[in-house]
Amino acid sequence: MPPAGLEYLYASLIVAVALAAFVVSVRLMVCTARCRARNGRLLMMLGGIATLLALGLANLFDAFDNVVWHREVPIIPSAWLSGIAGAVIVLWFEVFGRYAVERAEFERQLEILATTDPLTGILNRRACLERGKALTESAKRYGHPMTVMMLDIDHFKRINDRHGHDTGDEVLRLFVAVVAKCLRQVDVFGRMGGEEFAVLMPETAQKGAQIAAERIRQAVEKGKLNQGGQELSVTVSVGAVVGTHSVDDALKLADEALYRAKREGRNRVVMTEAQGENI
Ligand code: GH3
Ligand code: MG
Ligand code: MG
Repeated sequence: MPPAGLEYLYASLIVAVALAAFVVSVRLMVCTARCRARNGRLLMMLGGIATLLALGLANLFDAFDNVVWHREVPIIPSAWLSGIAGAVIVLWFEVFGRYAVERAEFERQLEILATTDPLTGILNRRACLERGKALTESAKRYGHPMTVMMLDIDHFKRINDRHGHDTGDEVLRLFVAVVAKCLRQVDVFGRMGGEEFAVLMPETAQKGAQIAAERIRQAVEKGKLNQGGQELSVTVSVGAVVGTHSVDDALKLADEALYRAKREGRNRVVMTEAQGENI
């Protein structure tokens, strides 16, 4: 039998390893649930499994020790071995897990930076075109209708000139919030630059497009920004097209319709006749 003092040391070591393994595996599992990157998820899942294994191993060695000790055979201190092995594995995956989480967060931030408009939080031009391309391809392939709209805030320069650039920025954010409320989950909404926006609506033909565009126009007209006790509102002109060959063509046609809306007096919707394949 090992001396009583050593027995306490072994026991506390095992408890410490078991606790550390438990804490780390819980932490790794929480991180796994949060982690969006596939590699990170995999690494952390492995970490969770390995720490649980370490915990199991420590208990196994401990059980072995007890059995042998009860037979009063002096043996190698397996509790020490299991303790050290467990601690190394736990430490290894703690470092590994942390790296995976940081890496995943870094990748997520990069993706957000690359696809989001920083002022309004919606898709930027590049991401919007990319999504538009994918939607157009799918609509064309399955012969489904799709609507593309260009939206431009009317006389936006006046807002900046009269109330300052910061207020202009606030108006842009309000505009985005108001329009976003009129859209469905499947619709794509992006800022094409300045005060120009694009909306892509899958499964939307001429009649639905007209209703949706008019709903957006009216919601923007009603939306009010409270600016130092003064209410500020803007209007929007919308150009829309249903059915064409590519997202670039669709945006060009929607842009032409938008400029017709501007010429005809602003704060209105102009639809272009469907062209090309009826996507
Ligand atoms: P129209 O009705 O013909 O569209 O007139 P407009 O004044 O809206 O159009 P114009 O192209 O003359 O002016 C757009 C203005 O939008 C000019 C530019 O300074 C402003 N702008 C572009 N980007 C931003 C931005 O991020 N923040 C703010 N505050 N203003 C912006
Ligand atoms: Mg404008
Ligand atoms: Mg413009």
